[in-house]
Amino acid sequence: MSEPVHPTALRSVTFHGLEPGPRLIVLGAVHGNETCGTRAAERLQDELESGARCLLRGTLTLVPRTNPLAYELGQRMGERNLNRNLRVTSAPQDFEDRIANVLCPLLAAHDVLLDLHSFHTGGQPFIMLGPRNNDGELEDFGQAREEEALAACLGPQRMVEGWLDTYARGVARRMRNPNASQRAQMLSTDPSYGIGTTEYMRSQGGYGVTLECGQHDDPQAPVVAYNAIINTLAHLDMLPAPAPATPGQDAPEVLRLVEVIDRDHPDDRFAREWKSFDRLEAGDLIGVRADGTEVRAPEPGFIVFPNPNALPGNEWFYRAAFSDRAVV
Ligand SMILES: [Zn+2]
Repeated sequence: MSEPVHPTALRSVTFHGLEPGPRLIVLGAVHGNETCGTRAAERLQDELESGARCLLRGTLTLVPRTNPLAYELGQRMGERNLNRNLRVTSAPQDFEDRIANVLCPLLAAHDVLLDLHSFHTGGQPFIMLGPRNNDGELEDFGQAREEEALAACLGPQRMVEGWLDTYARGVARRMRNPNASQRAQMLSTDPSYGIGTTEYMRSQGGYGVTLECGQHDDPQAPVVAYNAIINTLAHLDMLPAPAPATPGQDAPEVLRLVEVIDRDHPDDRFAREWKSFDRLEAGDLIGVRADGTEVRAPEPGFIVFPNPNALPGNEWFYRAAFSDRAVV
């Protein structure tokens, strides 16, 4: 058996409509083991090439395997997480730096991003929304309405906001950690480490959302991903009709990330096998620290992205609450 070939190129496919219109880019497999977007993008590419579907206007770029090394390895990352610290660098250090140097200009050449992911534990699909309109230093933004309208058209109705500011507060807290040896272990003491595809897109004047389409192996996840691309294209008047709506669909439910809690020690453990979006009541026991300190929910809400195997100094779980943001 020969060694797998280290990819030396990033493949994108662009359909140029003959009428002007929005420039949409769709990403699959930013994390290599999250292949629902790959399947969905390849299906749509086949349909556009066979004439089963026709692009009415604008530009559609499909990137089915955004991290080709991670995709070939069948794992989340190649040499690092492509969806963190995403930027152009003059001296790339690893495979993902080299991908970023071609991916970032490609993103900047589009107006709208749909980034398709899947997740490890079971649960319903959800959408990661960007910030509300603001002039702040962290992530100033003026297209929240457009982004909400995109999120509302996709299909899944659960939305989560507040990623980057919650992340940045976690970083600020880590920097104040008096335990220097622990601080040195921390991967993420730089707020720009929270910059992924959608944050980069917004920094370049565009907008976009991440859609988490379901569990990695859920056979419905590629369908959720495909319908989301079709619905986005219909929403942007680039295709004639959206995918059929799911009957009995609820109104959007918007949650806000409020806090990230780090795992401090290898013996810190959860009190239960938590799944994302499990409900928390005030006082619920979430976990127990190595020294016996209990970690309890300070207020009602949800647990999000629990990671029982987080390295000490890294994100153990997030807490979320209901948001007052209206998305229609
Ligand atoms: Zn992912």
